[in-house]
Amino acid sequence: MQLPSVITIDGPAAAGKSTLGYLLAQRLGYTYFDTGVLYRAITCLALRRGTSPDDEEALTKLAQTAQLQVLPPTVADGRQYTVLANDIDITSGLREVTVDRNVSTISSYPAVRTALREQQRRIGAQGQVVMVGRDIGTVVMPKADLKVFLHASVEARAARRHADVLERGEALPSVTVEADLVRRDALDASNTFRPQDALVLDTDHLTPEQEIEAILQHIETRLWGPTHRVER
Ligand code: C5P
Repeated sequence: MQLPSVITIDGPAAAGKSTLGYLLAQRLGYTYFDTGVLYRAITCLALRRGTSPDDEEALTKLAQTAQLQVLPPTVADGRQYTVLANDIDITSGLREVTVDRNVSTISSYPAVRTALREQQRRIGAQGQVVMVGRDIGTVVMPKADLKVFLHASVEARAARRHADVLERGEALPSVTVEADLVRRDALDASNTFRPQDALVLDTDHLTPEQEIEAILQHIETRLWGPTHRVER
């Protein structure tokens, strides 16, 4: 009995996609691919070069020409991957507040999305992969074998993002973090899709371990039939 080869996890910002995706990939021995890092990498590069987030033409060119590589972690600082842009390690810059604030504007440009989706599909086509994002189960990999969509309240997502910000040593009040999140939600809304055939999990009330258990049960009961068990 084969496990689903391509597993997609979509949902809004700070719903817990990367924690779940990373743990699930580890559990199954799959590649973990957080597609948001490509949008973050272009944003980070643009900000470092002084390119305005409003300059759609320059950003499109950047997305079409930048050499982005997502590799297994090369530094033991708790990172889930190493991201190289034109051979330079930009991983630590991807979660900066300025990137958080501008990434959704840059991701809203259709030609930027087209360029980055091509790279996502190349990685997805290799199989045995857990892909995390907004439009993966619908647009990037619509034929994925298993699709998951995470739902979470704004309050829970803001609390999660605020904890990340504090852990990175940045002093931002929780109201600012929540306001930034709501603003990003509005910009991301037109590119965040819940696949019709997705397993929907409400992460307000589930731990990542419980979410993994729900996914494994879904594989057993919906995809395989009740007599087969995924090795735990
Ligand atoms: O998931 P994360 O918050 O790191 O993604 C950063 C941003 O990248 C999102 O807010 C969204 O604007 C964009 N994104 C996207 N499509 C994806 C993944 C991320 O538009 N598949």
